[in-house]
Amino acid sequence: MLRIGMRELCDQQDTGSPGAFFIAHHIKLAGYNIDYPAVMGVKYDIELLSIHHSSDFLLLIDLPKIAPIRIIGGHPMQNNPLPVIPFCDAVFIGEGETAIKEGIKKIEKGGVSSLYGIDGWIVSKEWKHGYTVPDTVIEKELPDENPPYLNHSGASASWYIEIARGCPFKCAYCELGHSTRYRPHTIEYIRNAINSIDTKKSRKINIFAPDEASFPYYQEVVNLIEEKGCSTSFSSMRIDTVRDISLKKNHLIRMGIDGMTENTRFKVNKKITNRDIINYFIRRTREGYVQFKIFMVFGYEWENTEDFEEFAETMEAIRRIPYRTNISIRVKWTPFIPQPCTPLRKCIPQYDHDLVARINEWHVRVKTPRGIGAYITNDGIMGERNRQRQVILTCGDENTLLKIQKFGNNWENEYYNDIILVLRQLNNIPQFRRLFLFHSKYPKDRFHFQNATFPLPQTICCSPLSFGKNGGLTGL
Ligand code: SF4
Repeated sequence: MLRIGMRELCDQQDTGSPGAFFIAHHIKLAGYNIDYPAVMGVKYDIELLSIHHSSDFLLLIDLPKIAPIRIIGGHPMQNNPLPVIPFCDAVFIGEGETAIKEGIKKIEKGGVSSLYGIDGWIVSKEWKHGYTVPDTVIEKELPDENPPYLNHSGASASWYIEIARGCPFKCAYCELGHSTRYRPHTIEYIRNAINSIDTKKSRKINIFAPDEASFPYYQEVVNLIEEKGCSTSFSSMRIDTVRDISLKKNHLIRMGIDGMTENTRFKVNKKITNRDIINYFIRRTREGYVQFKIFMVFGYEWENTEDFEEFAETMEAIRRIPYRTNISIRVKWTPFIPQPCTPLRKCIPQYDHDLVARINEWHVRVKTPRGIGAYITNDGIMGERNRQRQVILTCGDENTLLKIQKFGNNWENEYYNDIILVLRQLNNIPQFRRLFLFHSKYPKDRFHFQNATFPLPQTICCSPLSFGKNGGLTGL
């Protein structure tokens, strides 16, 4: 019988994905011999590698195989599987509970090549640049055999129960809204899952879905968890769909705002007005909630540095609300990264240094209220270098990791030099013009190429390229 080893490609502290657990569970149910996690030193027939995030693609480069056949799956494959293709024998795109078992059966009979042409599968040796990526395979009905999952990898063990897949809202920048169809679990499934939990192992239950609060029976689920004598944390609640969900008053309320202006938010299908945000704070603080975290995306192609002022004005109105007690508002700033499965896949990201400086200055200014009020803290801004890495990996193709492998530790600089080389080669091609976004707001020492921003060295300025009156490159 085939021996299967499954592992997660991420740092040790990030292991314990419920999705990987579900796949291993279904393979076991089908009667296969699977070790999850795989035991080092054991020789397996098939290696299943689950990837949680595109930034973990880098770990693939030096990862020895533990079996002659390596299959890669995981959520990022539904967004863009291209970079991993040269580092495995097959890629599966989609929800694997049913499809992986069938895939293993095929391999058992006819080897990995027998997966060629089957929905959701890419066979690496048959793949050629420019081929169309297969559609995501989804489970017709959400599997109701998936048991609650006890994750030991954090500081304390906690149970995980899935309540839905996909997201009904489809914000234009978010891969979770576009990589699969929205399907909630039935309340019966969730009730049974909560009832079956062994509270001796843990009393902490995490219910998960891309947007938890859109689950139609969310309050009932929260009540069931409390009746069981357990606690739950709370993920993110859209402020435009606010419902009378009653939570503990010390719960951290997470809010994805994701656009500094109304114009941006409406453009990305997150239709929240500034007034909605202010009213949400008035309502929630009157209800007694005191801890908030705002998630903010910045760096969309159309954004201006001045857009920040609209956000600052909205926050000023929130600061002026007469609070009865101190409240805490953390703001997490994430630069926009184009996700290939979303409508904004071709939107060129920008990293505006003036804007980042303004954000930092503003945080210093508004940190502490006068008297009782809102303490606003900066929960972090992703730096430009990290953003560039993520753009390269998220939007990469079959050559991305191979190039990084060739360049070694210095890959960011070398990758960039490689792109300069490509630019020089493209210099005489008229279509080249289309690869750039010319705009005066970009610093003159930067340019944009294939959805990324790169620093521009002096050498290029001496080439046939030069800056036009808008600050963009001309002479192409
Ligand atoms: S940002 Fe949130 S609400 Fe919007 S699509 Fe993604 S998960 Fe859904």
